[in-house]
Amino acid sequence: MRAMVFHGPGDLRFEELPWPEPRAGEVVLRIDAALTCGTDVKTLRRGHPVMIPVVPTVFGHELAGTVTAVGAGVRDVREGDRLAVANSAPCGACPSCLAGRANLCEDLLFVNGAYGEAIALPPRLVARNVVPLAPATPAPRAAFAEPLACALLGIERGRVEAGQTVVVFGHGPLGCLLAMVAAARKARVVVVGKAGWRLDRVRGLGIAECLDARATEDVVGDIRRSTGGRGASVTIDATGRPEVWEQAVAAVERGGTVVFFGGCAPGTSVSLDTRRVHYEELALVGAFHHTPELIRRAVELLESETIVPDGLITHRMGLTEVPAALGLMAGGDALKVLIQ
Ligand SMILES: [Zn+2]
Ligand SMILES: [Zn+2]
Repeated sequence: MRAMVFHGPGDLRFEELPWPEPRAGEVVLRIDAALTCGTDVKTLRRGHPVMIPVVPTVFGHELAGTVTAVGAGVRDVREGDRLAVANSAPCGACPSCLAGRANLCEDLLFVNGAYGEAIALPPRLVARNVVPLAPATPAPRAAFAEPLACALLGIERGRVEAGQTVVVFGHGPLGCLLAMVAAARKARVVVVGKAGWRLDRVRGLGIAECLDARATEDVVGDIRRSTGGRGASVTIDATGRPEVWEQAVAAVERGGTVVFFGGCAPGTSVSLDTRRVHYEELALVGAFHHTPELIRRAVELLESETIVPDGLITHRMGLTEVPAALGLMAGGDALKVLIQ
C-alpha cells in the first residue's frame, strides 16, 4: 500500500509498504477518508513524544474506513463494516480510567496511520474505540468523530448551558467545532479570531457571532461590553497561546468557567489575578483529548446531523499531497483538508 510516513520532525516520506495483515484481535481497515489536523502540523515541526513514541510510523490520526479483514478472536466487527475510529484507546484499568476519566489514562495507546491506503487497528482500539457507521453516513463526515469528541470534552468541562454566553478564542477547526457544540446546546456563541477568509467562513457558515481581534485594541473590553459589562459565562481558549489564556480569564464573568483547551508550547506559563480567581470563584479547567464515550456521542451527533461539520473541509487532496496540505494548514490557508 502507499502511505505518507513520518520519520521525524520535518521528515515525511511517501512510501510503498506491505498491505497490512490482521493479527489476533486486529482489524484491517481500508481508509475511505482522512482529515488533516493542527496537531499534525505541530508534530511535523517538532515531533510528538506522546502521540508518536516510535518512528517511522504512517502519519495522520483522523480517519474513517471500511473493514477488509479481521483477525482471530474479533467478534463485534465484520468484513465490510464501516467504522469511525478514534486515535487512541485507554487501558480501562488505571486509576484515571477507573475514575471515569479515560482521557487521562496513564497508559493511553495512541494510533497513527490515517495517511495510508489501509491500517491495522490494534486489539485494544478494536475492543474499545471504534464505532460502526450507518450506511448513509459519508466517510469524510465520520472522520470528524475524533476532533468533535475533543470539542465535546471541552464543552463538558465548561459545563455550558442554554442561554449562557460562550466565547471561543480561536477560529481554527477546533474553535469552530467547540462553537458548533456550544450553539447546539443553545448558548450564545462568540468566536474571537483574526479577520480573513477563515473568520468569514465561520460567519458564512452561521456558526457564531464573530469578533475580529485585529480590529480592536481591547478584545476583553469588547467582550465585556457585548455582555452588559459582565463578561462571558464560559470562555474557551482554542489557540494554545499563553497571552490568549490570560485574555480568556480576563473576559469571563463572576462565577464563570475558563476552559484551557489549546495546548501551549512546553515551558510556558501565565499569570493570574488571584483576587478575581478567589473572590469571584472562577473555575479554571483544562480539557485534553477525549473518551470512548465521547467518541460514540460524537458519531451520534454527526449521524443525527445535530452537528454538520462538512463546511470546515476547505480542500480535497490526494495522499501524495499531504505535505502540501499540511503547508496550507500551517499558513492558515485551510481549515480541514480531506485526504482521499
Ligand atoms: Zn486531530
Ligand atoms: Zn487507563
